[in-house]
Amino acid sequence: MTTRESGRDREPLLEVRDLHTRFRTDDGVVRAVDGVSFSVDRGETVCLVGESGSGKTVASESITRLIRTPPGEIDGEISFEGRDLATLSNEELTEVRGGDIAHVFQNPQGALNPVYTVGWQLIEAVRLHDDVSKEAARERALELLDRVGIPDATARFSDYPHEFSGGMKQRVVIAMALASNPKLLIADEPTTALDVTIQAQILRLLVELQEEFDMSILLITHDLGVVAEVADRVIVLYAGKVMETAGVYDLFDRPSHPYTRALLGCLPGRGGRMHSIGGTLPDPTDPPPGCRFAERCPHAVDACVEGDQPPLYDVTDGRDAASAPETTGSADGPDVDHRVSCVHFGPGGDPSVVLADADTTDGPDANAESSAGGDD
Ligand code: SF4
Repeated sequence: MTTRESGRDREPLLEVRDLHTRFRTDDGVVRAVDGVSFSVDRGETVCLVGESGSGKTVASESITRLIRTPPGEIDGEISFEGRDLATLSNEELTEVRGGDIAHVFQNPQGALNPVYTVGWQLIEAVRLHDDVSKEAARERALELLDRVGIPDATARFSDYPHEFSGGMKQRVVIAMALASNPKLLIADEPTTALDVTIQAQILRLLVELQEEFDMSILLITHDLGVVAEVADRVIVLYAGKVMETAGVYDLFDRPSHPYTRALLGCLPGRGGRMHSIGGTLPDPTDPPPGCRFAERCPHAVDACVEGDQPPLYDVTDGRDAASAPETTGSADGPDVDHRVSCVHFGPGGDPSVVLADADTTDGPDANAESSAGGDD
C-alpha cells in the first residue's frame, strides 16, 4: 500500500473478468465464484473481503489455477500484464506461479517442509528462479531472512521449521515468496492464525515490503480490521458475487451495500454496537434468483428476488457501472469508483433506504477486528 487511494490512475497489473469457478460434487454443481470481475493495479493493495463461503479464496486460487481441475472448472478472462493466464499451459503457468505471482497462505506450517532446514528451503526457493551459485543463493537467502525480520538470521539458518514460532514461520514463508521478486503477492488470510500483536507486525512488514519490492498485493481476508490497516481498494464478496467495490476510505466512510454495512456492524468499537449477521449463506448449488443477500437483508423488496444479481451501480449517481467513469478517490474526497450491487442504488431506487440505517461510518479503524468470518 503506497497511497491509500483507490489507485485507478495506475496501470492494471491483473485484470479478472467474469470469473466463474464451479465444482462438480455429488450434491450438484457448487458455484463458488459466479461472474466476478476485479483488477489490481501496479503498486496497489486490493483486499477481497467476505465471510467464509463468499468465494474469496477460490477466486484468488483460480488466478494461477491452484484449483484442481477437475473437479473444479474455471471460466473467465484472467489477464496478467496483458497475458491471458487462462490460456497458458501447465508448464507456463508453473513459471508464473511462484515467479511473477507468489502466494502466501494462512498456515505457514503447511508451506514449509518439516524435514529440511529453513536455510536449505530458502536457498532452493532462490535457485528455482535465479541461476546463481549455491553461495550466491545462500547470501540472498540470508538477506531475505534478515529483511523479513528474523533476528540473528545467520544463526537461525540451520534451524528447522518447528524451531520457529508461528509468526517467525510466516516471516520465513514471506521470505520464500519474495525470493522470486514477484510482481504480485497473493496473501490469503496471512495473519489469521497469529495473535493480534504478531498480526500487526506481519501486516506492517507486508506494507513495507510492498513498497520496497515494488509489488502489488491481493490480500484475502474476512477481517475488516486488516482491510483498514493495509488496503488501497476493497472488493466485498458474498456468495460468489461482488457486492461492493470502493477505495478503502470510501468503504469505511460510506459503506453502501447492506452486506458491507452488516460486516461493519460486526466490528467492535464502532459506535458501541456490535452485531452478528443473522442467517446463513444461500445454497451454492442452488442459489436463489435476484440478490444473493436478499434472505438476510433488512432492506429487501420484491425486486430483490427477481432476475439476476443487480449490476454494480455507481454509488454517486446510480448509473450502471458499465457506463460510469473510473477516477481516483482519496482520503480527502469521495471515490467515484465506488460501486454497489443493490436495487436501491439503481434507476428509480432510493439509496437513503439503506444509508439511513445504523451506524457504521467511523472511518478505518486499524484496531478493529471483524467477528463475521473465518476462512473459506
Ligand atoms: S438488492 Fe435488495 S436484497 Fe440485495 S442488498 Fe439491495 S436491498 Fe438487500
